[in-house]
Amino acid sequence: MSDRIVVAGVGVDTRHWIGGERVASVTTFTDTSPIDGRALGEIARGGPAEASAAVAAAKAAFPAWAATSRTERARLLHAIADGVEKRIEELAVVETNDNGALLRSHRRGVMPRVAHNFRFFADWLLKLDHEDFDTFPSGGSAAGRGHTNHVSWDPAGPSVLITPWNAPLMLATWKVAPALAAGNTVVLKPAEWSPLTASLLADIAAEAGLPAGVLNVVQGYGSEIGDALTSHPDVRRISFTGSVPTARHIAASAAANLTPLSLELGGKSPLLVFADADLDLAVDLAVEQYDNAGQVCLAATRILVEESIADEFTRRFIDKAIQLTQGDPRDEATDLGPNIHPRQLEKIDGFVQRALAAGARAVIGGQRTDVGGQYYAPTLLTDVAQDSEIVQEEVFGPVLTLQTFADEDEAVRLANDTRFGLAATLATGDPERAERVTARLVAGTIWVNCFFVRDLQAPFGGSRLSGVGREGGTWSFDFYCDVKNTVTAPNGWNNHG
Ligand code: NAP
Ligand code: MG
Repeated sequence: MSDRIVVAGVGVDTRHWIGGERVASVTTFTDTSPIDGRALGEIARGGPAEASAAVAAAKAAFPAWAATSRTERARLLHAIADGVEKRIEELAVVETNDNGALLRSHRRGVMPRVAHNFRFFADWLLKLDHEDFDTFPSGGSAAGRGHTNHVSWDPAGPSVLITPWNAPLMLATWKVAPALAAGNTVVLKPAEWSPLTASLLADIAAEAGLPAGVLNVVQGYGSEIGDALTSHPDVRRISFTGSVPTARHIAASAAANLTPLSLELGGKSPLLVFADADLDLAVDLAVEQYDNAGQVCLAATRILVEESIADEFTRRFIDKAIQLTQGDPRDEATDLGPNIHPRQLEKIDGFVQRALAAGARAVIGGQRTDVGGQYYAPTLLTDVAQDSEIVQEEVFGPVLTLQTFADEDEAVRLANDTRFGLAATLATGDPERAERVTARLVAGTIWVNCFFVRDLQAPFGGSRLSGVGREGGTWSFDFYCDVKNTVTAPNGWNNHG
């Protein structure tokens, strides 16, 4: 096996990154490009031995990293951000070749955001360092005695971060940055369908001067390497983004040590379009759900439209959706690239064919597109029952359903009637309605007349099967730290005084 592959002119080391060294494995797996199915290279395939080595490296590096001043940690995170910014073009082309998402969005949106992930948490870390925020006098029964509470956020320890393939570096760094900022050391396991940019991140972090063992990257098949990571007694946090079945498996594995988990999972989010909405905006919001070929956890895949405007909305939606250009994600003009893997394409088509067999109607799409790879036509299905599979289960492809509602009550009932609760989007011209409806929706994030606007300071996560916990801003620090309260007696008092 070659230790290095070249992807669109960029060299990528295919070995693990453990304790500041590249480590090969006896076996490998083949990484392919969804653009044309070609093999990009053989990637080191880790198992329990590599998992143990990576956790041991993270454990060894932890005391020194946890003791590193916040200022120095923040400086190093900014240095990583500088490294990302210098290599935006390389990261963008490698990511596009590896997972098939649009090059233009990697260049202009995703990779700058990756750098921002590091900058944001570096700055936030310094903001946390305010004495008056952390310290307060005791009230209640201890009032007047002069006792002081001091709350501190102690780094928790080695953290295992497991990420999916749909936005690989974006989602990895959304975890890596706060974990490192908090003073934890990290073992990152990227998805086997898109492992390459995690390896580049290891290079960038090393060049930035991050000490050996603070960030480790291991590759491998899901549970083959994952079980040894998530059941390891030296792991203090596990943050996972991925599917519900894998989350269940990880939660069971982590139960052995009661390791705290953050779980960011799938969704079946609604877009509610009321008759008082700006219809052009509503149609734009709906068509936007095909972004990343529908492989977005937050996608509002269930369009719910008020009956009185349903025909007009559908007409305008079709007009706009059929203008989308599907093809090579490296072309500037492309709106919809390929789906990640032939297996994913099978899965998407299976959902659609079963829905059609159950009586759904494909207003557009409903089959693969023959543009020379693994592409699925943007699809809109109507005549779907609320309790049907296509309305209840996450497809993770460019497949939307459209249902109508008679009034606000029915809209809310349909919106909340799945097992998920990740996000919801509303299109309405009535601010009071927006307030009423958002109060009744079950979702971790709600957008009103907008979509996908995310501030790193805001809490992010899902309710019900969409996840456990929240990350972002202070929520990330609460998760990655052990929060400690120290109560100090004033001079001349004892504890029982
Ligand atoms: P997945 O199959 O659950 O895999 C996610 C990650 O978990 C991959 O790195 C996978 O490795 C790893 N894994 C699999 N089995 C494991 C095990 N037993 N122990 C430890 N790790 C294991 O999910 P996916 O298909 O890659 O991603 C799509 C899902 O992610 C969708 O449901 C989507 O909604 C969700 N998602 C959620 C968010 C969010 O923020 N809420 C964001 C993006 C995506 P392998 O690749 O080797 O299998
Ligand atoms: Mg790939």
